[in-house]
Amino acid sequence: MKNIGVLAFQGSVIEHDKKLRAAGATTQEVRYPQDLNGIDAIILPGGESTCIHKMLNAFKLMEPLAKKIQQGLPVWGTCAGAILLSRSIDGKKNTTSLGILDIEIERNSYGGQLDSFQYQTTLPFIDNSDVSLIFIRAPRIVSIGACEKLLCVEQNQQQEIVAIKKNNILVTTFHPELDTGCAFHRYFINEYVKAS
Ligand code: GLN
Repeated sequence: MKNIGVLAFQGSVIEHDKKLRAAGATTQEVRYPQDLNGIDAIILPGGESTCIHKMLNAFKLMEPLAKKIQQGLPVWGTCAGAILLSRSIDGKKNTTSLGILDIEIERNSYGGQLDSFQYQTTLPFIDNSDVSLIFIRAPRIVSIGACEKLLCVEQNQQQEIVAIKKNNILVTTFHPELDTGCAFHRYFINEYVKAS
């Protein structure tokens, strides 16, 4: 059984936990450095990146988490989680949070809470299942380095990159844990995570 950690300070922790279990994994909440032991992967949930950032520092988790990811721990950052992983945030180098992935991201780039939106599509890289992508005060991926684009959507006549991967890192700017199915969680578990 694969055991997936969910960073559990704030945001959609319970929602990810439920999807992971529905997709056949066991789960572990992660708050302290020792919680990183015994997990095969970790999800950084959506929520408020400034808050999660502060909690990562307060719980002395930033460095051990960054180190684990750099050593190959599979990680999936959704929305705020994606922001924490980005090398550049709002035009500034991200030197204070994880900053591991070579992408530039802009926070709240589609507007405020009332500009949140859903987008119906299929996932060609999974099983072509119908999904509803849910964007809540979502960030926009402005540029990517040597990463693989997994999914783009058209928004205001622009092609927006909303899911990318690089080696052990998966990033989505939307919230698959709020959709009805668990195709995306199954994909993460099957494609990124090896059982220990
Ligand atoms: N706007 C939030 C931030 O900047 C992210 C929103 C989300 O995770 N749904 O952290």
